[in-house]
Amino acid sequence: MKREVLIDQAVAQLARLGVGPGDVLLVHTAFTRVNPLERGPLGLVEALTRAVGPNGTIVMPAWPDAIDGLYDPERTPSDLDLGVVASVFWQLPDVRRSTHVQAFAARGPDADRILMDALPLPPHRAESPVGRVHELDGKILLLGVNHDANTTIHLAEVLAEVPYGRELTCQGFVDGVPHRITYRENDHCCRRFRLVDSWLDEAGAQVAGTVGHAEARLVRSAAVVNHAGSALHDDPLVFLHDRNVGCSDCNAARDSLSDDLPLGLISSEPLV
Ligand SMILES: [Zn+2]
Repeated sequence: MKREVLIDQAVAQLARLGVGPGDVLLVHTAFTRVNPLERGPLGLVEALTRAVGPNGTIVMPAWPDAIDGLYDPERTPSDLDLGVVASVFWQLPDVRRSTHVQAFAARGPDADRILMDALPLPPHRAESPVGRVHELDGKILLLGVNHDANTTIHLAEVLAEVPYGRELTCQGFVDGVPHRITYRENDHCCRRFRLVDSWLDEAGAQVAGTVGHAEARLVRSAAVVNHAGSALHDDPLVFLHDRNVGCSDCNAARDSLSDDLPLGLISSEPLV
């Protein structure tokens, strides 16, 4: 059995990694890799909160499983794929959650600014939670997950104006009335986002370490956007699997190339 890591020890691990007072920290984590940790998922949130201090802001994804359904920011569970820490975090006192379905949650002095935008389309554009974290020169912490969980790479795709975009739907409010919204998003399987890991390592742009028992990576949002953006400049399809790999998500993204349409809103219809 692995020994239980104490919260004090996790705070020290985070500090060694480079998490510091006042940081804006976007966290993606798989708690099964971090465990066992004193007080479980709540203990990790406490360690993160202490590591950034009272002037720091913690941010986590908090969107629901079915984005094409009614969403209540105070009740709708977050997607199980986002993990137990994300699920615990948005429900804590003083944590704010987006009023729209492409939701993130945040706590700290920059929370309002990070969550201020109306429904962003595509979801990871500049005027979105990941965009605001980038604007605030925030850092990204990956705990027990790799860059295929790093949604900031989608921001790099949007800024690079990638030529693929799949047609998706979600529900949102227009003038207070629920609408079914159709939009184009730079969506695919994301597995090739792992390429970014080696690019950042080669450039010495990320720090690796351990938090709890998990492999941890800490990187500036700006470094992710710059390195992914530069690769997209050289090859706009770098993150899509080759067609012969048979990845249905990436092949659908490749099928969209001939549409030659911009990312973002297509149409919205009131729900009856
Ligand atoms: Zn794929």
